[in-house]
Amino acid sequence: MPKYIPIIGLEIHVELKTKSKMFCACANNPDRDTPNTNICEICLAHPGTIPVPNKTAIEWTVKIASALGCKINNYSKFDRKHYFYPDLPKGYQISQYDQPVGEHGAVELDLINLKNHRDVARIGITRVHLEEDTAKLTHSTDGSSLIDFNRAGVPLVEIVSDPDAQSAIEAKAYCQELQSILRYLEVSDAEMEKGHMRCEANISIQEENKFEIRNGVVTPLKNYKLNDKIEVKNINSFRAVEKAIDFEIKRQTALLEKGETWGPETRGWDDDKGETVLQRVKESAADYRYFPEPDIPPFHPLKIAGDLDLPELPAARRRRFHLEYGFSYADAQILTTDRNWADFTEQVHSEFKNWLEDFKNSPLSSEPSKKKTEGTISQQLAKLAGGWLTTKLMGAMTERKTDIRVLKIKPENFAELIALIYNNRLNSTNAQKVLNEMLDSGTDIDPTHIMEEKGYGQINDENKLNEIVAEVIKNNPKQVEQFKAGKEPILQFLKGMVMKATEGSADPTAAEKLLRKQLK
Ligand SMILES: [Zn+2]
Repeated sequence: MPKYIPIIGLEIHVELKTKSKMFCACANNPDRDTPNTNICEICLAHPGTIPVPNKTAIEWTVKIASALGCKINNYSKFDRKHYFYPDLPKGYQISQYDQPVGEHGAVELDLINLKNHRDVARIGITRVHLEEDTAKLTHSTDGSSLIDFNRAGVPLVEIVSDPDAQSAIEAKAYCQELQSILRYLEVSDAEMEKGHMRCEANISIQEENKFEIRNGVVTPLKNYKLNDKIEVKNINSFRAVEKAIDFEIKRQTALLEKGETWGPETRGWDDDKGETVLQRVKESAADYRYFPEPDIPPFHPLKIAGDLDLPELPAARRRRFHLEYGFSYADAQILTTDRNWADFTEQVHSEFKNWLEDFKNSPLSSEPSKKKTEGTISQQLAKLAGGWLTTKLMGAMTERKTDIRVLKIKPENFAELIALIYNNRLNSTNAQKVLNEMLDSGTDIDPTHIMEEKGYGQINDENKLNEIVAEVIKNNPKQVEQFKAGKEPILQFLKGMVMKATEGSADPTAAEKLLRKQLK
């Protein structure tokens, strides 16, 4: 059996969150308002109306294309794409054909955390263009259909990738990276479940070494006939991206192994059944009779966009958090996916940086025993903070169904909590309690204050701890005997008793050390 390679290209449609629609002054609010309220003569395609392009939508498309590394064309124009469907009142869609806003970009995906995968996948971007969304059709069970024109004319950016993704996981990672970039740029909420970001995948599998990808086109090598690609629509979540593509790869491989072939098809992902379903067989390429939109003059995208002012993008930030700040790679990835989290982390880190510059007067200075260079302290703090941010804080916030955008904890107080843990003044059990109180208080409270008020501070006083250890040994003669007879795990039980006696305030390492000493 030959080895088959999946080839996946993705077409992503993104609704821009501009105030008004693409070619008229109607509010752009398709999710929230009563159907057919944000409509006018232009988006309903009354005869004689003239579309007026939305400047912000063009600016944002330039932003997206630039963030994706595209070359921005000096000359761009709108074209009419003709087809008939009830959700398209004009009988054509204003889109872009041969002069899109941007072309020839790429997204680099870091896949270091994925097993059995290449570390970096470069997904080429064929083109980024701007068009208008269609109306929304709702099909009722009785066979009738309803049309909501609130969505007709919403600015829609289409991002077409080269066929560079080689697995379902890569395709999903690509979609997630795009979502992250779009949110950093603040041009779309990019919620797949809400249809702000829609994904169509083109999937084929080909024999290894029988083809190459030239300028974004899959090209057969001598005597090889390419297997036709299958277009899969109706993919409404990241999970569905992965499942639908995996399903298609398996389905096509099984057909090839049976010696069967197929023609180009459009299939739909059925999330309930977990399979793709044939929608239509493509007889020939659709003829949309594209021609230049006569009512809108061609334009120079960069002149309209002016100064771009792009923020630092997730990939750059991820690398900086890892290489410069010392966060583990996995933590850096989690912390930079959302810009608000990345900003919070950045502020926590800058607090550390200030402390290290003025060590004596900082919350770190109470640490007597650790003599380390500033570099290592900084890295240890980043590792510790990374863990507390990505598991403890994010976990506690998920439990409370709260969001980073409304988080009451100030970065300096979170940094102080990390310093208390770092200095062994709080053990992790009590640190979690302090964190929970910080979250639940509804205002911003200093963690040292909570620690002192509630008596959570770690008992580092050796005399006091020695007394408690002696008490535990006295009260558990049977276990002490077992430990002395060589049952090492019993020590954990005794340590647990010390922790219990101190209500979790003992330093577990010190407790263990003293237990061993007294049991000798
Ligand atoms: Zn309108």
